[in-house]
Amino acid sequence: NTVMAAQMTDAHRRFLQFLMSNGITEGSEARKLHQHCCETDKVYYAHDKLDDFISTINSHLQPLFMQIRKGISEDDGRAHYAVVNLAETEVTKMASDYTETELELFRKTMDLIILSENGFASSTDILNLADQLKTKKMKKKEAEQVLKVFVEDKWLSEKNGEYTLHTRCIIEMEQYILSNYQDVARKCNICHSLAIQSQVCESCGIGMHFPCVRKYFRGQTEPRCPKCNEFW
Ligand SMILES: [Zn+2]
Ligand SMILES: [Zn+2]
Repeated sequence: NTVMAAQMTDAHRRFLQFLMSNGITEGSEARKLHQHCCETDKVYYAHDKLDDFISTINSHLQPLFMQIRKGISEDDGRAHYAVVNLAETEVTKMASDYTETELELFRKTMDLIILSENGFASSTDILNLADQLKTKKMKKKEAEQVLKVFVEDKWLSEKNGEYTLHTRCIIEMEQYILSNYQDVARKCNICHSLAIQSQVCESCGIGMHFPCVRKYFRGQTEPRCPKCNEFW
């Protein structure tokens, strides 16, 4: 069985363009977009062929060191798609959009989030960093404004004054985070991708995403850890 890269059509190009301009696209949106693009450009469409459609695009993106990647939202477990630049493996992905000082604030925020127990950093803790930045001190008001922009640009998400990494950030930065925070970054025991917000086993220390926990233990009356078999 030889694998040949299927032809890239206008529908594929249209789909890719939408995805790139969205930054991140939720799964059901991506399925609608798939249908829309195929119908608009009169290309073969089957509702269950989105993965094939995307791998065709990916095989053409490969020489450009780019890839459409799928990830799940840590809140609700829904699939999301984002276009990832594989050549830029660091926070330099963001370099053209922000100042040095803003990037430093982002890196420090990312440290707080990843080193935290629950995957969140409070705005108070982040704002306290603002006047300790090496590149240039930032006023709290200024830092607040920058955080707002990070949320708008889908690098961070905010809930009641607590910040975590946006799904888009997790999809794009997964490799960077796994290699730069080797000792602390955790992989979900169920889906094996990076877990920022996770439930951790008190006896063996493995972590699982909340949606993965819910799915895994569904219908079980006495849930046990998949690794050490202790009660969860
Ligand atoms: Zn998971
Ligand atoms: Zn365990």
